[in-house]
Amino acid sequence: DSASAEQQVDSVCPYCGVGCQLRYHIKDDAILFVEGRDGPANQGRLCVKGRFGFDYVRHPARLTRPLVRRAGVAKALDPAFDPANPLTHFREASWEEALDLAADGLMQLKQAHGPNGLAGFGSAKCSNEEAWLFQKLVRTGFGSNHVDHCTRLCHASSVAALMECIGSGAVTASFMQALEADVVILTGCNPAVNHPVAATFFKQAAKQGTRFIIIDPRGQAMGAYAHRVLRFHPGTDVSLFNAMLNVIVEEQLYDADYIAAHTEGFERLKTQVRGQTPEAMASHCGVDADEIRAAAREFALADKAMIFWGMGISQHTHGTDNARCLISLALACGQTGRLGTGLHPLRGQNNVQGASDAGLIPMVLPDYQPVTDAQVRAAFEELWSTKLDAEPGLTVVEIMEAIHAGQIRGMYILGENPAMSDPDLEHARAALAKLEHLVVQDLFVTETAQYADVILPASSWPEKDGTVTNTNRQVQLGRQALSLPGESRPDWWIIQQIAQRCGLPWDYQHPREVFAEMQQGMPSLNHISWERLEREGSVTYPCPADDAPGEDVVFSDTFPTASGKASFSPVRPLPPDEPVDRHYPTVLSTGRQLEHWHTGSMTRRALVLDALEPEAVAMLSPGEIRRLGMQAGERLTITTRRGEITLVARVDEGMPNGMVFVPFCYAEAAVNLLTNPALDPYGKIPEFKYAACRLSPA
Ligand code: SF4
Repeated sequence: DSASAEQQVDSVCPYCGVGCQLRYHIKDDAILFVEGRDGPANQGRLCVKGRFGFDYVRHPARLTRPLVRRAGVAKALDPAFDPANPLTHFREASWEEALDLAADGLMQLKQAHGPNGLAGFGSAKCSNEEAWLFQKLVRTGFGSNHVDHCTRLCHASSVAALMECIGSGAVTASFMQALEADVVILTGCNPAVNHPVAATFFKQAAKQGTRFIIIDPRGQAMGAYAHRVLRFHPGTDVSLFNAMLNVIVEEQLYDADYIAAHTEGFERLKTQVRGQTPEAMASHCGVDADEIRAAAREFALADKAMIFWGMGISQHTHGTDNARCLISLALACGQTGRLGTGLHPLRGQNNVQGASDAGLIPMVLPDYQPVTDAQVRAAFEELWSTKLDAEPGLTVVEIMEAIHAGQIRGMYILGENPAMSDPDLEHARAALAKLEHLVVQDLFVTETAQYADVILPASSWPEKDGTVTNTNRQVQLGRQALSLPGESRPDWWIIQQIAQRCGLPWDYQHPREVFAEMQQGMPSLNHISWERLEREGSVTYPCPADDAPGEDVVFSDTFPTASGKASFSPVRPLPPDEPVDRHYPTVLSTGRQLEHWHTGSMTRRALVLDALEPEAVAMLSPGEIRRLGMQAGERLTITTRRGEITLVARVDEGMPNGMVFVPFCYAEAAVNLLTNPALDPYGKIPEFKYAACRLSPA
C-alpha cells in the first residue's frame, strides 16, 4: 500500500559547510538510506557522515516532550544523568506550560534588569529562516543585540579580516575554482577530514596538474597530492606568511598593475615586512628559508592561484592577523576576481555562512549591516515596526563573562552546546549554572540542556523545510522527509511561540513567509526566491537576475568598500597567548575528526559513525609517545592550567613532536576543559589551536 511504499525526498546534508545535496529514501517514516545528488558542490558524492549520519533522528534519547527542571535539582552536570531517561532531573510538561514558563522567566528578568539582562545563542545548524527569527526575537523581543552563535568559535576572525580588507565576509570564489587554478595554498585546514567532498575535488585538481602547497604544523592526507608541504611550528603563522610576503616584495614578484588598480596600502605592507626575510624567520618557524622562498615564488608566479584556509588559521589570538596576511598574499599577486583565483575560508557547519548572513551576530544586523549605523537601523526598524538598540551586543565568550559579572541573567539557547564547545569549560559551565533562567531548544538533553530550567523538543533537519547557505555562497533548499516524533515541534514554530509570549505580533505560517521577509532586509538574497529554490535546488549569491545562476567568482572590477578598492592590512608577529614553558611544554590543539561532528550530540548517536570512532582519543607523534614511555592505545592524561582529562593515546604520523591534538566531541574527556579562553581582539575568537599542556601516562 502507499503508506509503506518507498518515497524519495531531496534535501541537503546537515553536517559540514560543503553543502552536499542528497536524497533520502524513506519507508514507514524512517530513512532507509541516503544517496548523493548531482548538486553544485558534490556532483553525487557524499562522505561517511552524509551517508551514515542520520540515525540520531530516531534515537531513543530523542526529546519528544517539553521538560521542566524538577524543584531542588542542582544545576550541574551529574555523571549519573542518563539523557535517555531525563525524568530523574526533569518533569514532562505540556507545550502551553513549558512555553509560558520559558517566556515568563525571560520577561520577568527583562522587567527587573532591563534588556541587557538577557542573551541568546542561535546555531549554525539552524536554517536561514530559524536564524533570522531567532536574532529578530533577541533584538526586538529581548531588546538587545546580545545574540551570537558558533561562528564566534569558528571563522569570526576570518570574517573580521575579510570585512576590513575587501568589504565582504564571504568567499570570493567557490572551491570548484581549484580545478581552474595553477597553484592552490591549503593552510590551517585538513579537507580530507573536515570537508571531505571538497577534498575529492582538490585531489581531482591535483591530478589535472594544479600544484598544491600545504602550509600547516600537522601532516595530512592531502599531503600525498601536494607539490610542497611546509610544516611550521604552531603559532608562528604570521612570521611565515610575512616571510613569504617579504620574498614577493623584495624580488618584485607582485602584480603592480593589479595593486595600482584595485588596492590601497601596499606601501605600508612593504614597510611592515621589510627585514622579515625567510632567512630571518626560518628557525623561528621551523621551515627552511629555501622552502619559504620557493613557496612564495610558486604562488606569486602562478597565473591563477587560490588560498583556502580553515580553523588552524582562525582559532588563534592572532587569527585575524593570520587572515590579513593571506588576504595580503592574494592581493599582492592579483589573485582575486578571475576564474581559478580567490580567497576561500572553508566554512565549518552546514549553515554557518547562512546563519551569519541572517544576523546571528551581535555587532551587525542581517547581511553584515552594522547595528551602529543609524540608516541601517532605520531600515530594519521600519521592516520590523520596532525600535532597535544601537549598541553592539556581546559575543559568545563575553556573554559567559557577563553572566559571571551578574549582567546577563537569562538566556535562550537554540541548538548550541556551550557546555561542551566553549573554551575553559569549568568557567563556562559555572556561568550556565549561575543563570537565573535558561531555556534550551534542542533534539537531546545535551550537556548544556542539563543546566536548563525549560527544555523545548526541537525538529531535526530531515523533519523540516528550510534553506541553508554553504561555503560556496550557494543557497540550497532542505525538505521535510519525516514526521516529527512525539510532541516535538518545528523550530520556527517554537521561536514564534516564545516571541508571541514576549509580546511580538508574529504570525508566520511557513518558513517560506520568513524567507520572503528576509529578502526585504538582505540584498544578498535578491533574485533568490523560495519558489526558485524549490525549482532549482540551489542558487549562488550574489545573483544578478531571476534567471541567472549567481556569481561563482566575485570582485572582478571593484570591491564592496567605500573606495571600491581592497586594502592591505600589514601585521607584525605576536606570540600565542599562553606559550609553552617548562611546566607545560607541549602544544594542545583541538578540532574535529571525520566521523564525528562538533560536540557529538548527533554523530555519537549514529550507529555506523559511533562504531567507526567509539572512544575519546588524543593524537600524538610516534616520537612523542616514545618520549612518554608509552605504547599507542594506552591511556594518557593531559593537563593545562585549567583542568585535566584522561583518554586513549593514538599514534598519528602527521603530528609533530611537542604537540597533541584532541577532537572536542567526547563528553567523557571534554578537551575544552583544558582550552584557553583568551580572545583574538578583533574576531573575539578563542585560541583553540594553542594551549600549553603537560602529558603523562595515566
Ligand atoms: Fe555532508 Fe560535508 Fe560530508 Fe558533504 S562533505 S556529505 S556536506 S559532511
